[in-house]
Amino acid sequence: MCGIIGVENNDNAAVLASAGLLTLQHRGEESAGITISGKEKMKTFKAMGLVSRIFNEEILLNKLPGTAAVGHVRYTTSAKSSLTNAQPFQINCIHGNIAVAHNGNITNFLKIKQMLLRKGAIFNHTSDTEILLHLIAMAKGNLANIVASSLRKLEGAFSLVILKDKTLIGARDEHGFRPLVLGKIESSYIISSESAAIEVIGGTYIRDIKPGEIVVIENGQIKKSFLYKKTKKQNTCIFEQVYFSRPDSITFGKTVKEARVKMGEYLANQMKNVKADIVMPVPDTGYFAALGFSRTSNILFENGFVRNHYVGRSFIKPSQNLRDLTARLKLRPIHEVVKGKEIILVDDSIVRGTTSKRLVNILREAGAKKIHFALSCPPIIGSCYYGIDTPSKDHLIAANNSIEEMRKYLGADSLTFLSLENLVKACSCADKKEKVFCTSCFTGKYPTIISRNTYKEDY
Ligand code: SF4
Repeated sequence: MCGIIGVENNDNAAVLASAGLLTLQHRGEESAGITISGKEKMKTFKAMGLVSRIFNEEILLNKLPGTAAVGHVRYTTSAKSSLTNAQPFQINCIHGNIAVAHNGNITNFLKIKQMLLRKGAIFNHTSDTEILLHLIAMAKGNLANIVASSLRKLEGAFSLVILKDKTLIGARDEHGFRPLVLGKIESSYIISSESAAIEVIGGTYIRDIKPGEIVVIENGQIKKSFLYKKTKKQNTCIFEQVYFSRPDSITFGKTVKEARVKMGEYLANQMKNVKADIVMPVPDTGYFAALGFSRTSNILFENGFVRNHYVGRSFIKPSQNLRDLTARLKLRPIHEVVKGKEIILVDDSIVRGTTSKRLVNILREAGAKKIHFALSCPPIIGSCYYGIDTPSKDHLIAANNSIEEMRKYLGADSLTFLSLENLVKACSCADKKEKVFCTSCFTGKYPTIISRNTYKEDY
C-alpha cells in the first residue's frame, strides 16, 4: 500500500505535498519522496523513513522550488524495501523530464518487463512502476496520449500521479481498486489517495477520480477523459474502508468513519446472544466499529488499551521480527478497565493471527474474565494482488483453519466475523445499488486473471 499526492499551480507546492504526505503516512512508512517542477529543472528528493524525518524547512523551501509537485509514501507490496525503489520515479526521456508516483500493483508487470527487455530496455529498479516509465518513454504523441496509451497496456491496480513541467496528471485503473480523489485549494488542484490530505492542507474535496478516468491539469484548468470507451465493472477495494483509509477520509464516496460505525452495528446484530460488561476497541482501526457495536447493543464502550503513537503499524512492517516487536511496544492494557470483565473485543481483521493471539493473552494476563473476539470483516482467505501486502495463502490463518480452530488458537471464548453481506451493506452508498467492491481476499475469487508469475511467494 502507498499514498500519493499531486499539487499544481501553487508556489508552495513542496510544502503542501509534504503536509499531504504526513496525512497519508499511515499508507506507508518505509520511504517518502517529492518531485517538484514548474520553476527550475525537475528535482526529486526521497529517502527511507518517515515524512517528518525526511523533509525539513531547508529542504522544502530552498531545495525544492517549483509550482507543481508529486509525492509518495511507500510500503512494499511487490519489490524490495530500498531507496532504489522509493518513489516518485523521475526520468529524462525524449518527452523531457517526467515523474510518476504509483499506488497499486501491476499484475502483468513481468510479461511487459520481458517484452521491454527484449526491446533493449534497461531497468534500474525492481518495482512494477518502472515499466510505466519505459512505456511512456517509447510512446508517441502529446502528453495525455502517451500516458493514456501506456496505461492501457497495464493490468491490475494503479492509482497514479504524473508530473511533467507544470502539468499534473491523475489516473485510476478501470476497476478502481485503489482510491484517488480530486480537490482544490484556491486556484490549485490537488490529487490525493485520500480526501483527508486535501482538507489538512486547507483544500476542499471535490470528487473521486473515476475508475478508468484520466485527468490532465495545467494552470488551474482541468481536462478529463477515460482510458477506455467502455469501462469494466468497478472493483473498489473494500479493505480500504475496513482498515487502510483514515476514518476522516471520504473513500469511494462514503466517510470511512460512517462505514466503520455501520460495520459495528451489523456485528452487534450478529452477536445479539453474546452478553458482556464492556465493548472494547483494538486501537485505532477497531474504534468506530466498537462504537457502533456499543450503541446498538447498549453495552458500555470502554477503552482498555493505551496505544503508543510513536510506534508504526505492526501490519506494515516487512519482517516478522519487526512485527512482533512493534506489536508489543504498541499496546498496553489498562488493568482497572479489563480486570474481572467479560469483554467484547473489536478489531478490524485477522491476517496471520499472531497479533490477535497476543492481544487475547495481554487481556487474560490483565485479568479479563471472558473475551469475545469480534472482527469487522469476514475471514481473510486469499492474498491481495492489487496493492495490499497480505501474505501468501499459507500464512493466512483463516485460509487454513475453521473458525473453531482459530478461536482455540487465539484463546478467545468466542470468535465472530462480520458477514460479507453485512460488510458490503456497511460500505455501500445509499444511492448505489449494484455491487462495486472487490472482496476477493474474503472470497478467493479475483476480478482479473492472476498469472503464475503474480502468485505471492512465501517471505
Ligand atoms: S483482494 Fe482484498 S485487499 Fe485486495 S483489493 Fe480486493 S478487497 Fe482489497
